[in-house]
Amino acid sequence: TRRNAGEAEFHQAVREVLESLGRVVAKHPEYLENALIERICEPERQIIFRVPWLDDRNNVQINRGFRVQFNSAMGPYKGGLRFHPSVNVGIIKFLGFEQTFKNALTGLPIGGGKGGSDFDPKGRSEAEVMRFCQSFMTELHRHLGEYTDVPAGDIGVGAREIGYMFGQYKRLTNRYEAGVLTGKGLFYGGSLARKEATGYGNTYFTRAMLEAIGDSFDGKSVVVSGSGNVAIYTIEKVQEFGGKVIACSDSSGYIVDENGIDLALLKEIKELRRGRVTDYVRLKGEGDGVYFVASSDGAIWDVACDIAMPSATQNELTGKDAKTLIKNGVIAVGEGANMPCTPEAIRLFREAGVRFGPGKAANAGGVATSALEMQQNASRDRWSFEKTEARLAEIMRDIHDSCFATAEEYGVPGDYVSGANIAGFIRVAEPMLAFGVI
Ligand code: NDP
Repeated sequence: TRRNAGEAEFHQAVREVLESLGRVVAKHPEYLENALIERICEPERQIIFRVPWLDDRNNVQINRGFRVQFNSAMGPYKGGLRFHPSVNVGIIKFLGFEQTFKNALTGLPIGGGKGGSDFDPKGRSEAEVMRFCQSFMTELHRHLGEYTDVPAGDIGVGAREIGYMFGQYKRLTNRYEAGVLTGKGLFYGGSLARKEATGYGNTYFTRAMLEAIGDSFDGKSVVVSGSGNVAIYTIEKVQEFGGKVIACSDSSGYIVDENGIDLALLKEIKELRRGRVTDYVRLKGEGDGVYFVASSDGAIWDVACDIAMPSATQNELTGKDAKTLIKNGVIAVGEGANMPCTPEAIRLFREAGVRFGPGKAANAGGVATSALEMQQNASRDRWSFEKTEARLAEIMRDIHDSCFATAEEYGVPGDYVSGANIAGFIRVAEPMLAFGVI
């Protein structure tokens, strides 16, 4: 901990993985050789840089940019960029560490990385966002490449930001290197179904967990936190699978619609108007089961549901929230966000026998589809939505099955946390052993 002082989220993520590894090294002592585990916990490279830009009043603003190139044993570093005021080196390191195992679980040839900035896009004009993205890429471009490091979006980084960054990369390098960023627009090398992939993927994964206990989404009430990219497409797929999503949120609070969230309205507010969840209540009219609760007055997890799908941010679902959900009869939790449940919440879910899908497995559909985008770019091809979604569904099924089977093999049946950590670890450890001490 002294070596990574103050990086609370990074410690949390590493501890969770290390707790699962006792069973592995008991069976495979070779993984203790050559400081393999210590090397896996140390990023290969960390880049921290100044991002100066001019706001609309011609004032110079300074943000801090990050790229943590965590592990390239499986392929080029791959992982999103996050623009949010809470971003610091510990957050990016936890995300990069998780990403390494997640990417390994997809079975596709991608290493792990993550990046971003403490820039807050909220309330900024289009021109300010563009100037920020251009300045950010002016430094970052020299560290990227189709065979080196391939970023994507994350919180605060969607198709608009990827477009500005791709434009700047192309201009600086004089190369139309489509495979250097994923989450691109459909007119310049983006993949159909990428936008939907994380939310859809978590829903496929959670459905597989339900099927393993002879259940389904049909007729279930579901709470999805957040109302960004992951949340919106989780809601879409859950509805398609017959579930009823009754609540979602943003940082201002949560909304409930007991008749089921009107997804067309939510998309219009969030994707077109860049509005807030309070606009939903304003436009739909309060009453008849529709209401808003401010974040200061309660947590979205107070809403009784059968299935919880946290899809906003890290540590948003605490031990207290887990107790409420368990009391209300929750049967499954699928993590759409990265590390949204605190260690205490996860412990309580496992003790109560709630099926728990950890983010590094359940939300891997986004990065898996990013790898499919790279595949399309490399072969100068373009797949249909149906073909891409079918591949995504197959990948999520494989991830579920491999976590499930690994948990059985290591004597913890139904424990997807151990299953994901062990299966992901082994896939990264094997090439690292083969490469020797590097
Ligand atoms: P978006 O920026 O599209 O949406 C984020 C949502 O979460 C918004 O509703 C936002 O509310 C809310 N949120 C963010 N930070 C906080 C906070 N500190 N407190 C309360 N609410 C918050 O991001 P994504 O949907 O892309 O990402 C959501 C999560 O999913 C993240 O953990 C991300 O790492 C993870 N993820 C994303 C993938 C992807 O493909 N996009 C892939 C795998 C994981 P507000 O607008 O008020 O800030």
